[in-house]
Amino acid sequence: AAFAQIDRVEADVHSYVTIDREGAIKRADEVQKLIDKGVLTGPLAGVPVAIKDNMCTKDMLTTCSSRILGDFKPTFTAEAVQNLEKAGAVILGKTNMDEFAMGSTTETSYYGETKNPWNLKHVPGGSSGGSCAAVAAEECFYALGSDTGGSIRQPSAFCGVTGMKPTYGTVSRYGLIAYGSSLDQIGPIARDVTDCAVILETIASHDKKDSTSIARETYDFTSALTEDVKGMKIGIPRDYFGEGLDSEVRDAIYAAAKVLEAKGAIVEEFDLSLVQYAIPAYYVIASAEASSNLSRFDGVKYGYRTEEYEGLHNMYKKSRSEGFGEEVKRRIMLGSFVLSSGYYDAYYLKALRTKALIKQAFDKAFAEYDVILAPASPTTAPELGKSLSDPLKMYLGDIYTVSVNLAGLPGISIPVGTDSKGLPIGMQIIGDCFAEKKIIRAAYSFE
Ligand code: GLN
Repeated sequence: AAFAQIDRVEADVHSYVTIDREGAIKRADEVQKLIDKGVLTGPLAGVPVAIKDNMCTKDMLTTCSSRILGDFKPTFTAEAVQNLEKAGAVILGKTNMDEFAMGSTTETSYYGETKNPWNLKHVPGGSSGGSCAAVAAEECFYALGSDTGGSIRQPSAFCGVTGMKPTYGTVSRYGLIAYGSSLDQIGPIARDVTDCAVILETIASHDKKDSTSIARETYDFTSALTEDVKGMKIGIPRDYFGEGLDSEVRDAIYAAAKVLEAKGAIVEEFDLSLVQYAIPAYYVIASAEASSNLSRFDGVKYGYRTEEYEGLHNMYKKSRSEGFGEEVKRRIMLGSFVLSSGYYDAYYLKALRTKALIKQAFDKAFAEYDVILAPASPTTAPELGKSLSDPLKMYLGDIYTVSVNLAGLPGISIPVGTDSKGLPIGMQIIGDCFAEKKIIRAAYSFE
């Protein structure tokens, strides 16, 4: 069924960088045998999945949608993907993304843009745009994405699907090609919150191969799938609903808040300070970490190497100049600048201090509220070709998502309607660290 749908829509939508038809069908047969023998009994056994192309898959192309990794076939599989395989998942292929997960539209991919299945003239969001479009267009039953500053939640909102970023440290980053290591987190993208809870339960694990992986008390998420939000305290940060927010998005979220209230939740507005500092702090920290993480792509150890060069330094320079796209280069330069001596204190250290203050502001909020409601993005999906010419404006679109990563919090985006153009609107539900179950509970009350 997944391949039949891929045959119907992939030429238009372009969700995938790699489709592994043969491998998937062979694997499906093997899994079916294990199901028949009663060896595999879990809910994900035999269910086809698509994996974002920044997660290593053994012997399967893993490009990060970059030219520099155009021929990279890893020798191992990312821990989160392995956890899915143990549960009997069938991998259909690897999904398109913004190059190295840097972007909000999936237009910075070296392999061409992905389109929004709801309207092919619009972007699917990013950077996990391929994963979200594949789920929305039913080219897979669910997908994995990664979220450094909103890359699961924002494209989920734009594509009308449900996507969840877990608490930092919940899903192993082993085998996830690093962008901003202190912010990156893998999470599920699916048709509803029930599926997300099941998938999260499967991919989350304590992994000694990732030093930031956390041993959680429990990995049960599905028991939170109950409609009961009675007595839950839900906060709406006033600062998130001011200037710059599309009125249709705002109205849809207030309408959703009313639904929760009608079901017995207590909904209140409150002030969440420091919102205006989230974007600068995020872009300084993410770019700093990216500039360090991406130094390994030098034409020697991985992927693309320039054809002609004179000496080692010229080889590095030409390989990187030709292998990386514009947006990636911009971030490497910004990151190198803020880490350079003389500027470190003024930018990087200051950003880290801001991050700590943002965490404190959330701590204060969660002393009062179980979950927070917020937009996932100030607008619905923009038209293709409108965002890249003005990177600063594009960065501002991340205003509602990045602080969640800075504070390490879990967040989900669920569909709450469409705008007058028929494009989906997403609502974010944000929880305190390790409070995924509260988020799932609130989100499930819409199912
Ligand atoms: N849009 C943000 C960025 O470009 C977030 C990307 C992400 O979460 N990977 O950095």
